[in-house]
Amino acid sequence: MQGLMMNRPMRVNDILTFAAEVHGDSEVVSVTVEGGIHRTTYRAIDGRTRQLAKALLKLGVAEGDRVATLAWNGYRHFELYYGIAGIGAVCHTINPRLSAEQMIYIVNHAEDKVIFVDLTFVPILNALQEHLPKDLIYVAMTDRAHMPETDLPNILCYEELVEAEDADYDWPDFSEDTACALCYTSGTTGNPKGALYTHRSTVMHAMMAGVSLQTSLSPGQRILPVVPLFHVNAWGLPYAAPLTGASLVFPGAALDGPSIYKLMQDEEVFSAWGVPTVWLGLLAEIKAQGGKPSAFGEVIIGGSAAPRSMIEAFEGMDVSVCHAWGMTEMSPIGTVGLLNRTQDKLPQGERIDLKAKQGRRVFGVDLKIVDEDGKRLPHDGEAQGELYVRGNAIVSGYFKNEEASKTALDADGWFGTGDVAKITSDGMLTITDRAKDLIKSGGEWISSIDVENMAMSHPEVANCAVIAVPHPKWDERPLLVVVPTPESSKDVASIQNHLSENLAKWQVPDEVIFVEDLPMTATGKVSKLTLRQRYANGTLA
Ligand code: ADP
Repeated sequence: MQGLMMNRPMRVNDILTFAAEVHGDSEVVSVTVEGGIHRTTYRAIDGRTRQLAKALLKLGVAEGDRVATLAWNGYRHFELYYGIAGIGAVCHTINPRLSAEQMIYIVNHAEDKVIFVDLTFVPILNALQEHLPKDLIYVAMTDRAHMPETDLPNILCYEELVEAEDADYDWPDFSEDTACALCYTSGTTGNPKGALYTHRSTVMHAMMAGVSLQTSLSPGQRILPVVPLFHVNAWGLPYAAPLTGASLVFPGAALDGPSIYKLMQDEEVFSAWGVPTVWLGLLAEIKAQGGKPSAFGEVIIGGSAAPRSMIEAFEGMDVSVCHAWGMTEMSPIGTVGLLNRTQDKLPQGERIDLKAKQGRRVFGVDLKIVDEDGKRLPHDGEAQGELYVRGNAIVSGYFKNEEASKTALDADGWFGTGDVAKITSDGMLTITDRAKDLIKSGGEWISSIDVENMAMSHPEVANCAVIAVPHPKWDERPLLVVVPTPESSKDVASIQNHLSENLAKWQVPDEVIFVEDLPMTATGKVSKLTLRQRYANGTLA
């Protein structure tokens, strides 16, 4: 028998309409590209997104059209999320760190109609314009006084577009399965692939995030998304924050430790979200300042494995660490690492051990691990296999890419993550490695994440990565690439001895090399692909 309840479509703009009314005074603070801090509220932003929607319609943007952004984290970028999606168009965020080839590919593949660009990135578009669609409309995200000198044809001014309209606009009705946002994976091999989020998946994801991360996501709480709006919707924060009434403090272009520290201190940020590399910079600044920013109480770390030593450092200063795992194709949150009451009372060492794992699944995400034949493995904390996921905010295929869509799901409709993992009987996930980063030495697997975790706890290791290098006898051996601390004596034996304390002998890298810095991907992770290519023929090359 069918129930007798209304079935209202879930649309992202309902989140902002709700926030404008219920959490209207919650602030959105931005470090601007023009200089200085800008302050607004969800109430004011709701009005401006309606003005923006009218402007987009006048530019000829229709339902289903893709509208691109190339911008830092700031209030105008946030407004675009809603202004574009609200009229049924698709907000296509572009990662400015992509290579020129990748950027040209995705703008053309997405067939973007309009591109909104922060002043910082105008030169990028200037250089690429002859490869971009001829009728692409360019809009600089600034006011008239700051309009850039550029060859971009007929570039428009964001503030002029918005100010020319009034806020008297009702969001149109359309199906909740309508696409609202598009994000391309950075594509370490082959062309980037587009994850096309729907209004429904995005609202569901925001609700999942809200119930799973309540300490951050609650009325009046102040959150710093260092994780960019230009990649996987800043882990859903532009939706989950207004939904729950949390305030957003956008850092703009200044992502170094001292700038983040100062912003957190000045703006009384409680919760900061981002990848491990960013927190290395913040921890260094906290050390230099002799204490943490005063309101800082929680850090959400994801995107790549949070080193145990980093978790220890934050917890040691009373900043609660939540280690989360996910991916672009999952909107992105899959698991979050908050402890329950019993676990939280464990001795500190055991608490940290648990927090170093990737956490438990959020509601709406199913997990399974399988062996090489696709057979399900038990969730006993021992069996290790490829991780598959299923849920309402997980891709069912890729945008305009039949080839990749064909192989994305298994026969039962689960999405293959490419990660290798273990799951305990109470649902705790440990990511052993990305399948392609595992090291196979003499028939045994070595987790690069495990070795990195140990190496990071050596006092003279500032950052590191472990990759497989070819070996005539063992097929592959791990190579440890270390960025030493300034005071490091670069003592290889001392690092190897330290690793031997917790790793089997054959897991300890025979070779350790020191470098000034590590190559990064467009999403702020260490690029192991680049390292593997660099050291494919030995470390002296
Ligand atoms: P995102 O940019 O959101 O990190 P990507 O799709 O670029 O998403 O990368 C997803 C991959 O990043 C995952 O498949 C996994 O390999 C890795 N990853 C993400 N979070 C973690 C984590 N907490 N621990 C280990 N690996 C992680």
